[in-house]
Amino acid sequence: MIVCPNCGMNLKFNIPLQKLYCDSCNSSFDPYAFDSKTSDGIEKAKDEGEEDTYEATVFTCPQCGGEIESTDTDITGFCSFCGASTIFYSRIKEEKKPDFILPFIKTKEECKAAFSAKAKRNPYVPKEYRDPSYIDGFRGIYMPYWSYNVDQKGPSSIPAELTHHSGDYIIHEHYKLSGDLDAFYHGITHDASSSFSDDISGAIAPYDVKQKKPFTAGYLSGFYADTADVSQEIYRNEVQSFADKHTTGLIKKEPPFRRYTFKDDPKMVKLNTKLAPAQKTLFPVWFLSFRKGDRIAYAAVNGQTGKVTADLPISLGRFYAGAAIISVLVFLLLNLIFTVKPRTTSVFALILSLITAFLYFFELNNMNIRDNKTDDKGYQSKIQNLDDPAKKRKVTAAVNVAAKNEHKASVPALVCLFGGAGVSLLGVLIKTIHDPFYYVIDVIAAILVAITLMFLIRDYNLLTTRPLPQFQKRGGDDNA
Ligand SMILES: [Zn+2]
Ligand SMILES: [Zn+2]
Repeated sequence: MIVCPNCGMNLKFNIPLQKLYCDSCNSSFDPYAFDSKTSDGIEKAKDEGEEDTYEATVFTCPQCGGEIESTDTDITGFCSFCGASTIFYSRIKEEKKPDFILPFIKTKEECKAAFSAKAKRNPYVPKEYRDPSYIDGFRGIYMPYWSYNVDQKGPSSIPAELTHHSGDYIIHEHYKLSGDLDAFYHGITHDASSSFSDDISGAIAPYDVKQKKPFTAGYLSGFYADTADVSQEIYRNEVQSFADKHTTGLIKKEPPFRRYTFKDDPKMVKLNTKLAPAQKTLFPVWFLSFRKGDRIAYAAVNGQTGKVTADLPISLGRFYAGAAIISVLVFLLLNLIFTVKPRTTSVFALILSLITAFLYFFELNNMNIRDNKTDDKGYQSKIQNLDDPAKKRKVTAAVNVAAKNEHKASVPALVCLFGGAGVSLLGVLIKTIHDPFYYVIDVIAAILVAITLMFLIRDYNLLTTRPLPQFQKRGGDDNA
């Protein structure tokens, strides 16, 4: 907590001013005024006992174990991760200072406007998404990222090959292309929190890292921060191979090298790739959670650019109302334009059921990937590779939680799926001059497809929401 030197009240970071601001006496201060660094990153004369840590209050959610930090001492009573309204456990912690911070640029008002615009474009979202008091729950959270700098300098070589025909022979010529390389990548970032899903951080990327400022706790005032619990080692190989691939790609585009085929063997490619220790950087995110039963949906807005991502469940009632209006319109329109042969309608019905079946299985697969977080590197690193036995127990618990998230095709859905496809296939195969036969077939197929759609939407809502989080990650860092 930073206290106003003029009146003693709490100073908060004010986004439009980009300054610390006092609500009671209207004075504003440079965020670095209470710190040992200036905005240029130049160290001021150090005070006695100036540390590279700052004091934060860590709030732990008793429901899900999620943790969030604040430099202020209070938190309004709901958890951003699991949506529970709760009384948090809190403790004071000396937190190591991050290296850099991207201050919030988009205000909460701008964030709410951006989210509402997205929700409006989707006519089927639940009504809470349009409720101003509900979307007031957006919370400004700084998410920790690792920022990697890569240098590739000096004599380098890449194995390559030229292939040509001579008579009956195919001749392979092997080369070692070498030269002096001078390349660098600054600010390759990966999220450093296992509670922040990679799909969300990916969806609101990119951030303009050039606008980063040396960290000072003044920027945190009035906001929250998620703690970094993913080691910077986790992404090092990925960063290195990204830099290697990208540089090799650029070299290949140079005119003298275009005719060569580059060999992809990473052991043979020498690019002198060097990674400096990653810098911890805080990125601003406006974060909202929406709990429905035992599932949760998240919305996040990039606090620098205003880019929105949101899990948008479909309200079944709204969907069927919309679908009914559209089908009536389409039916009237088609009737006006041309008449279809009864048997052709069965072909349509068959195509429709096959598309529905494809969507259904596609969705199940996506749901399993999402819920088990198999694509989330930070999370996976947390539930594997833990050494001490106490942590191993937690790992087992985490795996048990993950195992529960297996989604299988439901029997009624399968019956409707294959029933719809089967019935319409009959219509396609059987030739008869009795038109009513096809109409009956079509009606049955349509009903079965409609029921499958209901299962599809129900599962889609599972896909656009997430299982309630259970954080296994904390506890190991208490001795910090
Ligand atoms: Zn004041
Ligand atoms: Zn929680």
